[in-house]
Amino acid sequence: MAKIVVVTGGVVSSLGKGIAAASLGLLLKARGLRVTLQKLDPYLNIDPGTMSPFQHGEVFVTDDGAETDLDLGHYERFTGVSVTRSHNVTAGQVYDAILSKERRGDYLGRTVQVIPHVTDEIKRRIFGLSLATQADVHIVEIGGTVGDIESLPFLEAVRQLKLEHRRDVLFVHVTLVPFIRAAREMKTKPTQHSVKELREIGIQPDVLLCRTEVPLNDEVREKIALFCNVPTEAVISAIDVKSIYEVPRVFHQGGLDGLLVRELGLESGDPDLKVWNEFVARVLNPTRRCVIGIVGKYTHVRDAYKSIIESFVHAGAANRAQVELRWIEGEEVESHGAARFLSEVDGVLVPGGFGERGIEGKIEAVRYARERGIPFLGLCLGMQVATIEFARHVAGWKEAHSSEFDPQAPQKVIDLLNEQSGITDKGGTMRLGSFRCELKEGSLARRAYGRPEIEERHRHRYELNNRFAAHLQSRGLVLSGKCVGRELVEIIEMPDHPWFLAVQFHPELKSRPHEPHPLFVDFVRAALERRIARLGHDDYVPTAAPAEAGEAERLRGRPEPRHA
Ligand code: GLN
Repeated sequence: MAKIVVVTGGVVSSLGKGIAAASLGLLLKARGLRVTLQKLDPYLNIDPGTMSPFQHGEVFVTDDGAETDLDLGHYERFTGVSVTRSHNVTAGQVYDAILSKERRGDYLGRTVQVIPHVTDEIKRRIFGLSLATQADVHIVEIGGTVGDIESLPFLEAVRQLKLEHRRDVLFVHVTLVPFIRAAREMKTKPTQHSVKELREIGIQPDVLLCRTEVPLNDEVREKIALFCNVPTEAVISAIDVKSIYEVPRVFHQGGLDGLLVRELGLESGDPDLKVWNEFVARVLNPTRRCVIGIVGKYTHVRDAYKSIIESFVHAGAANRAQVELRWIEGEEVESHGAARFLSEVDGVLVPGGFGERGIEGKIEAVRYARERGIPFLGLCLGMQVATIEFARHVAGWKEAHSSEFDPQAPQKVIDLLNEQSGITDKGGTMRLGSFRCELKEGSLARRAYGRPEIEERHRHRYELNNRFAAHLQSRGLVLSGKCVGRELVEIIEMPDHPWFLAVQFHPELKSRPHEPHPLFVDFVRAALERRIARLGHDDYVPTAAPAEAGEAERLRGRPEPRHA
């Protein structure tokens, strides 16, 4: 059986539990262990596919077409391993399976209950993944915050796991140790309360990862250890860092991976972090800079664009550049015009999205980039919008549109395929997951990828309408990517433009630190070139050290008063 490390979170949400789990995965993998990561989400949706990005952030799509939590993106980026449908379990899926069994009569007249039926179903899904992946270590992250009603069945399931496999299960709890500026003190009480809450339901954490602005001093660690019933060495500072990719190093220095392998009785050497550290050094020490304008709809919720943001970090590192992202609402472009937002950017990106709001602004942004030779990358909806823009302003169909936004448009250059048009259910019914795509000889896409065939992940209903393809081509649009085995346009580009490319898929889902996505790398390269051409020089200025840098040093010696 795999060793199981359960990661829970306490005090508040957004402590970076997913990044903590992913970092732990990376460290154990760097020790030569086979690692798998799984996210258990306590909400009742079957998957996040039907949730608004405002609510849930990005939906991360796997190769096998599952719509999953964005933490799975961190798992893939940190461990380099591709995850599948079974790596994300929701309460909705668990109850769905149980209710189907109940209707079939599988429970043979018994009352169906949270314990044991729901907890058994949760454990079955954990063991199922362990078995399928043959992992040495299986990291299970439980979504939400300890104390939520929804997460109780999941916590109960992992409590039972520990009881049944005492030596093979460890609990890591991510918590917050706030630094109260007025008192100039770190406060341990929230951590004490959150651990108390865990212990009340029968879970004693083995390791505490304490999110903190300044490193915990020995006194604070000892106090947390005493009150939370863990050894002092198991109280580890998870100090704030500039880049999430520094987290594995912080944990390693805090002794996390060493402690876990010791406790779990796993044979392994020191982690080999050489390549990872080189990547982090490139992220932290850029030598050039460029600015990319992102014209979207959910720009206030950065989580909605998580993978795009990370893809730019990877592509920036590959180009030794700092890529500054400027967030622009499509609606704002409608009100004030594109020039106001885009005259000083070096590249324009229109990301994926749903719904009509801000569409005309996005179309205007594409036009601005096309006419002024600004590097442009369109992703999914971004390709659809670029097609509409071309149809309207180059091909001369003034009312061209997507049937998603105007079902009566005379030229529906973006439309539903027959197979999509009869579907009424919203959940899981899009074109989802990985599809092969062949690239046209001599195209920008082919040059950027450096190979004739690729595989990319999709999540959309609408497609470029083949009825109009020939005419668009005759006006200069290059259809440079075609789905293997099907007449579907996957990539468009414009040859008489310095860099203009848009794709029907989501390349951002496959970019990783060690394998930055070729389209992002080439797009950033083009943006850097444009900046130099525009300004005549590179204007990168290293950012000053954080203002509070000295504070940590001063605080290290300051003990916290010892009352509970
Ligand atoms: N709304 C568009 C479609 O469903 C684009 C989807 C997306 O950008 N992911 O086809």
